Amino acid sequence: MAYIEPAPIKDKENPLESMMSRFDEAARKLGITEEMYYILKVPYRQVTVGLPVMMDNGKIKVFEGYRVLHSNILGPSKGGIRFDPAVTLDEVKALAAWMTWKCAVVDIPYGGGKGGVACNPREMSVGELERLMRAYTVAMLDVFGPDKDIPAPDMGTSPREMAWLMDEYSKAKGMTVHAVVTGKPVVLGGSLGRVEATGRGVMVSALAGMEKLRINPYKATCAVQGFGNVGSHAARLLFERGVKIVAISDMTGGYYNEQGIDIEEAMRYVEKNNKSLEGYAGAEKISNEDLLTLPVDILVPAAKEDVITEENAHQIKAKLIVEGANGPTSATADPIINSKGILAVPDILANAGGVTVSYFEWVQNRLGYKWTQERIERRSDRIMKDAFDKVYQASLDYDVPMRIAAYIVAIDKVSQTYRFRGGY
Ligand code: GLU
Repeated sequence: MAYIEPAPIKDKENPLESMMSRFDEAARKLGITEEMYYILKVPYRQVTVGLPVMMDNGKIKVFEGYRVLHSNILGPSKGGIRFDPAVTLDEVKALAAWMTWKCAVVDIPYGGGKGGVACNPREMSVGELERLMRAYTVAMLDVFGPDKDIPAPDMGTSPREMAWLMDEYSKAKGMTVHAVVTGKPVVLGGSLGRVEATGRGVMVSALAGMEKLRINPYKATCAVQGFGNVGSHAARLLFERGVKIVAISDMTGGYYNEQGIDIEEAMRYVEKNNKSLEGYAGAEKISNEDLLTLPVDILVPAAKEDVITEENAHQIKAKLIVEGANGPTSATADPIINSKGILAVPDILANAGGVTVSYFEWVQNRLGYKWTQERIERRSDRIMKDAFDKVYQASLDYDVPMRIAAYIVAIDKVSQTYRFRGGY
């Protein structure tokens, strides 16, 4: 089909380019029409705002904020808000599209969206962060809504920020609106199991991948990059299932111990140590780059985008990669990973446990009811395992790697839904 030429990768490390090249490949395999290609490609709404915020020093600083709504074909758009100095509109566009595919892969009734504010939350006080989040919420009042667009936490934000968002939105509407945002604190209508949900989904995906490769978890070794909300819980849950976690890392670098790291102890250390692994004893200090090429069975990149690139992909020794982060593998690294026979469970499948439990939170808010942790875990584990099996089967049917298979499953679902809904 002439209309979908493989996208030339202009900037190798641009997540939007990476996302689009996989989308193009899957669209080609699936043979979708030209009209459908553009319907699925172009975000339906992009909002950019300037947010003047009073800083603690009495000066006003203006932050740039974004919200990109990629698709509302399956339902209201869903996706987190990222606070990070490197946030750009292009990055948010890629992340929004990834949310569309992610929700479709796990078969929940949402489209995809994403928000971001270019700021450094590590250098801001709690008061500054609160004013910024409230300003962002007010700027997005006509974007957000429980039936329109439902934000959640992402890098640099947490349940605390979601509470401010929910409060500000509720004030503006003159009533309490729990379902406008997910990932809230549990006392404020948050769901049990939401905090560890993404890590739990990574664990379920890793176990499913190990089963396919006939790797015994009790004999397996694993390196986890990133010790934030996703990486720490993924490491802990794999550790509880017998996997030896030999390396972990955060912004301060990597920590390697061939004998295995006690993840619960490391989590307690981070809690006491200002949320950082700095100074963690009982492990050798390595770099974040070195961690990626360690001789392990499983590699879990759970930090940020484009860490596995054409430069380091050749040196990866893991047999299984489970992507906890969004977009940790750049598109140029894909052929190298595939030629080495590594099974890569892609982000839009492996880290979909978070948005799955976000969906449960939204359902509970709308029911005005609370589910038990046990019910949430049972249901989200089933959804993750079913999605894994479906994507694995598609990879066999279409003879493609799991990443392209996940896009095929997602694009097929969204395009079929669009055909029933119709357009102008
Ligand atoms: N930020 C998370 C993600 O990238 C969660 C999104 C959500 O729960 O809506 O999947």
